[in-house]
Amino acid sequence: MAAIVDRHEPLDHGSPPSDGPAPDGSGLLIEGLRKDFSLKRSSFTAVERIDYAAPEGSFTALVGPSGCGKSTVLRMLADLEKPTAGKVLVHGEAPSVARRNRNLGIAFQDAALLPWRTVTKNIRLALEVTGRDVPAGAVDDLIRLVGLEGFEGARPAQLSGGMRQRVAIARALVTEPTVLLLDEPFGALDEMTRRRMNLELQRIWMERVTTTLLVTHSIEEAVLLADRIVVLTGRPSTVAEVVTVDLPRPRTVEMQRSPEYHAIVDHVADLLFGRLDADLEDPTLEA
Ligand code: ADP
Ligand code: MG
Repeated sequence: MAAIVDRHEPLDHGSPPSDGPAPDGSGLLIEGLRKDFSLKRSSFTAVERIDYAAPEGSFTALVGPSGCGKSTVLRMLADLEKPTAGKVLVHGEAPSVARRNRNLGIAFQDAALLPWRTVTKNIRLALEVTGRDVPAGAVDDLIRLVGLEGFEGARPAQLSGGMRQRVAIARALVTEPTVLLLDEPFGALDEMTRRRMNLELQRIWMERVTTTLLVTHSIEEAVLLADRIVVLTGRPSTVAEVVTVDLPRPRTVEMQRSPEYHAIVDHVADLLFGRLDADLEDPTLEA
């Protein structure tokens, strides 16, 4: 098979997840996850306890107050940080194994491209590191998938912020990962570009069927993209609620004006900000 993008059979994402049995954890499995950090001689708990399971091919968004441990959870799934307690599995593998087998694709807010390399060569980098053979045309297919045709020879300084993030996502996908981990990949983009990139990410995900975890501070982005939204409490974090987003696919801009969409946005906002409102109304907390 010549092209990377042809490897996965298209999956029917048309039907929304139902209230059936609990997700099987074949995609992501997080059990009793805890993370303590030590600072000088003291230690503090960043993540208290997280339990979560998601099936293969699903799209999860992780939201929570700033500093609650979202990136820490993602970094434990990516084998960049070791849990203090509990376990995580990605497609049934320990993150260290998945990482060694190049089954993890990761992209952060900062695209972190090598400035002297072209678009094509930045994308190829992940393959060169592994010494893996690239099927002819695979990188070109990926460039088309992320909408960068015509910019193959451009260097990062010649690209817009949105285009640099496209390169970062293509680079994350080039090893054909089974799991895609994204930490606020559109956080630094302007609102218009961000919305366009949201729809592009949905399209890429629907074509590639990769189990995805997206850390975001945008409730709108989470509701637009995810099957399930894991809402974390403040630090030390636990799961406040897993919200199911039962909107049909593909999600559209029109859908963002529907009462169903707004009901979910409001619900997540209540979970995130409800406590803040209560604090503001509590006279005993008056300054
Ligand atoms: P979020 O991504 O939700 O904003 P993080 O996961 O980055 O939060 O951080 C959670 C908490 O853990 C923060 O208080 C942060 O300062 C702390 N933290 C993160 N990484 C480290 C580290 N390597 N050493 C010490 N503290 C850390
Ligand atoms: Mg973070």
